[in-house]
Amino acid sequence: MNTAGTSFSYRPGVTATADVLVVGAGLAGLHVATLLARQGHDVLLAERRSSLGHAIRTTGIFVRKTLDDFPLPPEHLGPPIRRVVLYPPGLRRPVSLVSDRDEYRVGDMAPLYAAAADVAADAGVRIALGTSYAGRQGDTFRLVGREGPASVRARFVVGADGARSRVARDLSLDLNHHVLVGAEEVFGLPGNDDGEPPTFHCVLDPSLAPGYLAWVVNDGQHAHVGIAGYADRYPQGLRAALQRFSASAPGLAGVDRPEVVERRGGPIPVGGMLRRVSCADGLLVGDAAGAVSPLTAGGLDPCLRLSELAATVLDEALRAGNPEEVLAGYDGAALRAHFRGRLMMRRGLAQVRTPAMASAAFTLLRTRFGRAAAGRVLFGDRSFPAPVHEFT
Ligand SMILES: Cc1cc2nc3c(=O)[nH]c(=O)nc-3n(C[C@H](O)[C@H](O)[C@H](O)COP(=O)(O)OP(=O)(O)OC[C@H]3O[C@@H](n4cnc5c(N)ncnc54)[C@H](O)[C@@H]3O)c2cc1C
Repeated sequence: MNTAGTSFSYRPGVTATADVLVVGAGLAGLHVATLLARQGHDVLLAERRSSLGHAIRTTGIFVRKTLDDFPLPPEHLGPPIRRVVLYPPGLRRPVSLVSDRDEYRVGDMAPLYAAAADVAADAGVRIALGTSYAGRQGDTFRLVGREGPASVRARFVVGADGARSRVARDLSLDLNHHVLVGAEEVFGLPGNDDGEPPTFHCVLDPSLAPGYLAWVVNDGQHAHVGIAGYADRYPQGLRAALQRFSASAPGLAGVDRPEVVERRGGPIPVGGMLRRVSCADGLLVGDAAGAVSPLTAGGLDPCLRLSELAATVLDEALRAGNPEEVLAGYDGAALRAHFRGRLMMRRGLAQVRTPAMASAAFTLLRTRFGRAAAGRVLFGDRSFPAPVHEFT
């Protein structure tokens, strides 16, 4: 990562200043920080991890709309995936769907985050890795890093600090309450051209993934084996369920698994966009704002799109004489309205509580109507609503 020119180190006891303090260098924080710096603002980005390649919390599946609309570095994206196979409990008689377009690509997330940090640094963002946001004290924000505690005075703070946002709490904004937990194993594949085409395997089995799906993504370069569901429905714990799934997961025939695999995991907010995501002192983006599809649990497209709106609003707030009014226009309730259908489907998925119910759902899925409906969810053109900002 080439952040040397703009990496931030502070002197304990001295209050640093910035136009905007962004907390969290996931994709949302990196994107909003870059856009603000490109608009000429002084941006400090604080991230508690000391390396963006560690403790990754995503599989990294990017959908077609994101690939079409955002310039992600192609060298850090796996081969296109067109094929999805859906399995009932027991894995018998799966339903295979093949799109005539490239639908997904899986990001190689460690280098992809590093590349995004380089872009941010080139735009002028000062990046403080290994630096935790530790709260607010009057008009300053407290950070704790390698050199000890420090304070920052910033016009605005952006909470890009994930599903359990401390910034949201400190600004008295809405919090995520409806959350799944997910975990996966990731390993490289030797690259065998004779294997099956890049495929996304999804298993609907509430004993493994209560309220969601278990998955294997095998794009020929990497395999991701994961599960997600409601934490209180894993009596033996998430890790034991992942082990059980991993032992019989589909899509890995003939694959030699290495002894050591990368482990990823984290919370996934699926309650829909939060309503109150801004106040006079700042705003939330990404998972902190609940910007995740309640049905598919995809958050990468929403976090990029919402970050664009956030940067537009903050740019205007920094230039305008009426910042409170401008920030009030960053309204989660208006965006939430677009998720009504997906929230209803989430409620439906949450009700699939037994393997028998999941198997019954496959009876419908095997019909022409069922396949068409699944195709619309998996290969549809819908993404996070393009946020519209009315300038004040
Ligand atoms: C297992 C799993 C698999 C997933 N797979 C997919 C997928 O394939 N496709 C998809 O579209 N979505 C997926 N999602 C959802 C998606 O990854 C998230 O919605 C997206 O990454 C959110 O980005 P973010 O920047 O808002 O948050 P994050 O990526 O969580 O970033 C938040 C950052 O804030 C930092 N931070 C937190 N607190 C502090 C603090 N106090 N001080 C400083 N820094 C702090 C964290 O270290 C972190 O770097 C998945 C989620 C999980 C858990």
